[in-house]
Amino acid sequence: MKKTSSLIPVEKAIETILSQIEPVSTETIPLTSAYHRVLAADAVSAINVPPFVNSAMDGYAVVAADTRGASKEQPVRLKVRANIPAGTAPTVHLQPGEAARIMTGAPMPAGADAVVRFEETSEHISPPAGLSLADDEVLVFKPVRTGDNVRPVGEDIRQGQVVLQAGHRLRPQDIGVLAAIGQAEVTVFRRPRVAILATGDELVDIIEPVGPGQIRNSNEYAQAALVQKYGGEPVMLGIARDTVEDLTAKIRAGLARNIDLFLTSAGVSVGDFDVVKNVLAAEGEMQFWQVAIKPGKPLAFGVLHHQTRQVPLIGLPGNPVASMVAFEVFARPAILKLGGQTNIQRLPLVARLEEDVTNSGRRHFMRGYVRRDGDTFRVTTRGSGVQVQGSGILSSMVWANCLVVVPEETTYLPAGDAVEVWLLD
Ligand code: AMP
Ligand code: MG
Repeated sequence: MKKTSSLIPVEKAIETILSQIEPVSTETIPLTSAYHRVLAADAVSAINVPPFVNSAMDGYAVVAADTRGASKEQPVRLKVRANIPAGTAPTVHLQPGEAARIMTGAPMPAGADAVVRFEETSEHISPPAGLSLADDEVLVFKPVRTGDNVRPVGEDIRQGQVVLQAGHRLRPQDIGVLAAIGQAEVTVFRRPRVAILATGDELVDIIEPVGPGQIRNSNEYAQAALVQKYGGEPVMLGIARDTVEDLTAKIRAGLARNIDLFLTSAGVSVGDFDVVKNVLAAEGEMQFWQVAIKPGKPLAFGVLHHQTRQVPLIGLPGNPVASMVAFEVFARPAILKLGGQTNIQRLPLVARLEEDVTNSGRRHFMRGYVRRDGDTFRVTTRGSGVQVQGSGILSSMVWANCLVVVPEETTYLPAGDAVEVWLLD
């Protein structure tokens, strides 16, 4: 066990955690179940999308050269040879002077090289006075150029193109593209199994009555939801008491359940019964303890030895807010990397502080409420009359819609200054 007297920087802690994590194995699943899963192989299109030249409009397929000089006063008269709905394969071959009525998405007939929209034909515009029109004729009132309103083969996706890369978490539009290229099944990383163990002699579970000196175990539930938010499968292990024996037994029992990452909460401070560090050291190896972060300083990380495997363990702090903040900062990247996601950077906002903020040497994640104000964002770290910065006040996380990131080297930020903001929603 490494003795660490000084706090380690947030960046270093994340780096150490990620260095111990490799993506989990993969599985092949139906596309209909693939939303929010992470692709494990590049998706390469075997086809062109669209696969054939087709009309982008409801209108008339024409030979563009025929429409040269067409105007309201002097429309061009064409002979209508066919009507082509979407889903059919036209057999007509247009000659100069001919047109085909065509619907959006229908294949272009041979010989045609442009489409005139209905709105620019006698379909919508009455012929000039004195001009008569046969049933199989159409008037074109505006010229088109070759390619107008025509969608070429492969305009959207070319055959052989990598449409999505391995490591990408699938969004609804990605599911649509995979359907378009005919991928009924996709190979994805399986969901990382994340064990969650609460620790504390004072804890009772959700359905139990709360006796003297006891509180309900809320951390395990919030963490299970966070695991799901980041694509993992929570394995809820309940409560371990603050003894080496019980904690060791619960950790070993948990490890037997195919766990990719182990999370504990509480028992990592400097109190008499904070045994998580000791058990971690005994069951594996502790790599660091205590990070320069607020809230969430008492954070432990190490690996548990389990048969031939090493299972990383993040010992989250016990205070409910600290536990959630530490989860967002340290467990989130771990779960995303385990789940095979390659880009795990957040996309923070920059917002202007509504009031002065002070800080003392650690990276401070303050609960905040951000709102739009014209062309900027404004963020407040004060609730109206409620205390929102205590690390035990879970309702402050309910009030908050963001975390305000105050850098460790910053001791004072005046109202109006720009700060980085992590949206929680
Ligand atoms: P500890 O780190 O064990 O000293 O715990 C710090 C604080 O977090 C104490 O007030 C605990 O009662 C509280 N706490 C610990 N575990 C949980 C939990 N699972 N749910 C809610 N609060 C907890
Ligand atoms: Mg405790």
